This record gives sequence, C-alpha cells and structure tokens, in this order.
Amino acid sequence: PLTLRIGISQSEGRTIDGRTLLNEAELALARTAESDSAKYHFFSPDIAAQARDRQRLARDLERAIQRRELFPVLQPKWALQAEGGVRLAGAEALVRWRDSERGLVRPDQFIPVAESTGLIEPIGEFMLRSACRAMRDWSDRFGWSPGIAVNLTAQQFADAALPQQLRNALDEAGVATGLLEVEITESAAMKDVVRSAATLQALRDLGVRVAIDDFGTGYSSLSYLRRFAVDAIKIDKSFVDDIGSDRNADAICDAILRLGQSLGTKVIAEGVETETQMAFLRQRRCDEIQGYLLGKPVPLGEFEQIYLTRPLDPQ
Ligand code: C2E
Ligand code: CA
Ligand code: CA
Repeated sequence: PLTLRIGISQSEGRTIDGRTLLNEAELALARTAESDSAKYHFFSPDIAAQARDRQRLARDLERAIQRRELFPVLQPKWALQAEGGVRLAGAEALVRWRDSERGLVRPDQFIPVAESTGLIEPIGEFMLRSACRAMRDWSDRFGWSPGIAVNLTAQQFADAALPQQLRNALDEAGVATGLLEVEITESAAMKDVVRSAATLQALRDLGVRVAIDDFGTGYSSLSYLRRFAVDAIKIDKSFVDDIGSDRNADAICDAILRLGQSLGTKVIAEGVETETQMAFLRQRRCDEIQGYLLGKPVPLGEFEQIYLTRPLDPQ
C-alpha cells in the first residue's frame, strides 16, 4: 500500500534560506513516521531540539555498543501451580545501558532510537547471543536451564533473516531450540498479518517458542489469532495494574484468560505487583506470572545466585 506523508515548514516572518527550510520540513516529515495516524506535521523549534537530542543519544548509543556498556538483565517468570505455590518457569531478557553521564538508561528511551538508526541490529544480536550463552552455560553447570525469552521490535520481526539468525545463535551456543522464546508485541505482529503468520510458522518450525507481548493494547483480529501459531499471550501490565480496582480491567483480564484457555494458548500476566493481583490470576487459572512481587529483573550473575544455585520457592 502507498502512504502519503507530508512535512511542512513555513518561512513566514523569518529570514531563512531554502536549504534550512527543507531540512526543517524533513524533520517534521520524520515525525509523521513515528505514529501510524499522523499523515502530516508542522515544523516547530522543539522538533529541532528533540532531533538534536536523539542524534546525541544515537551517537552515544553507538559508542556504548562498541564499548560493551550494554548488558542483559533477567526477570523470572513463574508458573502458578494448581496446589498453590509457584515454580520457576523461565526468564525474560531485558536490555540495560549504563552510561557514565546519563546513568542507567531505560530501554523505552533508547530502543526507538535504535530502531530508527539501525542500531537495533547489533543490540538484538547481542541480547540473543547473551541469552543463548547463558542457557548453555547453565545447562553445562547445573544440568538444566530455564528457558529465556528475548524481546523483538517490529523491525526485527519483519526481517526476513530472523529465523536464520535465531538458528545460528542457537547452533553456535549448542542450545536446544525449545529453550529459546521470543516476545513480539501485538501491534508489531498485526502490522502485516500475512507476513507475520509466515514468520511465526518459520519460528515454530525452528522450535523457537513465540509469545505475543502487551496483549490487549493493539487490535487483534480474533481470526488471525487463531491462524497465528503462538505459544503464549502476555496480558499487558496496564490491565494487571488495575485488577481489583477497575471492573473493566478485571473483565479484560478475565476475557484474555478465557481466550487463551479456549485456544489452548498459555497466558502470562506481566507486571504483577500485589498479592491481590496474584490471587485473582491464580483463581482464574492464569498459567504464568511475572512482576516485582516475585522478582525484579537482575543481572545474569545475580539471577543465577538467587534462582539457580538455591532454587527456593519464594512463597
Ligand atoms: P516489555 O517487554 O513489556 O517488558 C516489561 C517491562 O516491565 C520491563 O521494563 C520490566 O522491567 C518492567 N516490569 C516487569 N515487572 C514489573 C512490575 O511488576 N512493575 C513495574 N512497574 N514494571 C515491571 P524495561 O526493562 O524498562 O523494558 C521496557 C520495554 O523495552 C520492554 O517492555 C520491551 O518492549 C523493550 N525492551 C527491553 N529490552 C529489550 C531488548 O533486549 N530488545 C528489544 N527489542 N526490546 C527490549
Ligand atoms: Ca516483553
Ligand atoms: Ca508490556
């Protein structure tokens, strides 16, 4: 499909040369690409300031990648057991960047910049390899390893080379494919449903498990969900947050849980912070939960110490 996007800059009331005017229109145009609905954008001075900030961030991020200042943290995922109690079911890998000036930079701040500059490729490769290496290392030393899920952006997911990239990383580390999981947001999966269905099938054929992230925030067509070969759906944190305090949130969580149960797809709730939320989810037979209540994301060494060398039930 062809889409029309327009960036607009006005010379009115200013003394400005043609090139600068065009550059400004260019910056305004770039803005339209960040949203699915905006078709045009006017230039304003804050757009220029933000563009400069992003440029600086992109430059620092590139240097950080070279200097290996990025590192993965792991957050445990817990299976809710029928008899009560929980069991470690896996982990999610999340990227962190420690910058000497900025401090710890959250991925929400730099992943979008990484996507627009192509830096997402080395970051994705790094996270994938770190996850595979950890699983291999733990299998060797403990005789088992929790599966690790890595996050993929829309761009990473749309890359035709993705299945091969996953295959290579698994082969190089010598890890059984069933241990690796990828998480892709609902909106990314729905961008191009025909292609997504094919990619999901290719990942499935590889034996890599797939989870749909932030479920409930995009628009899923239920018929596509049926066609998509996914292993899990993750209820978005915004709904989990309001369990017990907003009847609509309760109803949405309930509906997603039933949907998963009738499709035979595992349901994971993310961002679980309270006992009330956990009790609600347990009562409705949610398969797995993840959140600060049972474990924050921690560096690999710490994860190993807490969860693998003394795998105690936290309950
Ligand atoms: P996400 O995949 O939805 O990850 C869940 C986010 O919620 C993480 O934030 C996690 O630290 C946070 N979280 C987990 N439990 C709780 C809780 O109980 N309470 C609260 N308040 N927060 C909780 P984080 O690590 O800042 O990551 C933000 C987003 O950045 C992720 O959202 C994911 O979309 C993206 N991201 C993170 N790491 C990577 C990566 O390696 N590659 C890609 N492509 N995206 C990544
Ligand atoms: Ca995720
Ligand atoms: Ca989320």
